[in-house]
Amino acid sequence: MSVGISEASQQWDDQAATSHVLKPGELDLSHKVILYLEDISVSFDGFKALNNLSLAIDAGELRCIIGPNGAGKTTMMDVITGKTRPDAGSAFFGQTLDLTRLSEPEIAHAGIGRKFQKPTIFESHSVFENLELAMKTDKRVRRSLFAVLAGEQRDRVADTLRQIRLADQADRPAGLLSHGQKQWLEIGMLLMQEPKLLLLDEPVAGMTDDETERTGELFKSLAGKHSLVVVEHDMAFIEQLGGKVTVLHEGAVLAEGDLATVQNDQRVIEVYLGR
Ligand code: ADP
Ligand code: MG
Repeated sequence: MSVGISEASQQWDDQAATSHVLKPGELDLSHKVILYLEDISVSFDGFKALNNLSLAIDAGELRCIIGPNGAGKTTMMDVITGKTRPDAGSAFFGQTLDLTRLSEPEIAHAGIGRKFQKPTIFESHSVFENLELAMKTDKRVRRSLFAVLAGEQRDRVADTLRQIRLADQADRPAGLLSHGQKQWLEIGMLLMQEPKLLLLDEPVAGMTDDETERTGELFKSLAGKHSLVVVEHDMAFIEQLGGKVTVLHEGAVLAEGDLATVQNDQRVIEVYLGR
């Protein structure tokens, strides 16, 4: 007897319920690792900015990267985001997405968000509008379900405003915010894109102590749902974050572990902390 359409579709539903089938381009976190870099090398005019760099970040992790100037920290982020192509090595987002074969927009779309030091906010627009403009929207869905989605979108903006502690600044032009508030707004704009992995290069540079501490609280609240890779020099901030620390030196990993462990590592003291 042949299988009827309704039975076949029931079987398909049962299968879909028990085994999650990945769509093409979907992030595969089945091995709990969100980012793998393996033996990455990048040369600039014969100088090795990255030299067989290998690193793995777990899903939901909050990782700090430290190391002297020129160690290759920013170059590493350039490789992850597709801005710089490695000469050798592999870079995977989850189990299946080969970052070395994706364009910068494809990588951003896949769920990697990057915050640069200089905020790229729209100064004459309000804080609320900045977040609204940053939202990922599916134009087709938006047209048919406009009213419902508009409400949902407003809720998402409101949630993000609370998260970045700018709810009381929502209607102010972004250009009037303090340096620290502008940094938070830009983090909020990244969050509107729903990234899985956030890359933050020296996020608390130029912030007051109070702003730095609030930023630490924000990052800790994001970990779990998001994975974060934070490049910083501020040791008090890194201690506050409390995650695993990777020390880069001459384009490779010199040491890795909790902050106390790497702070007591003689090689780390020599090249970085003891200067
Ligand atoms: P970090 O962020 O750890 O301070 P970078 O990744 O910015 O280090 O730089 C690593 C090394 O690569 C430095 O010596 C830097 O001068 C060099 N470098 C980085 N980008 C370029 C580039 N586009 N062209 C030439 N050299 C570069
Ligand atoms: Mg740098």
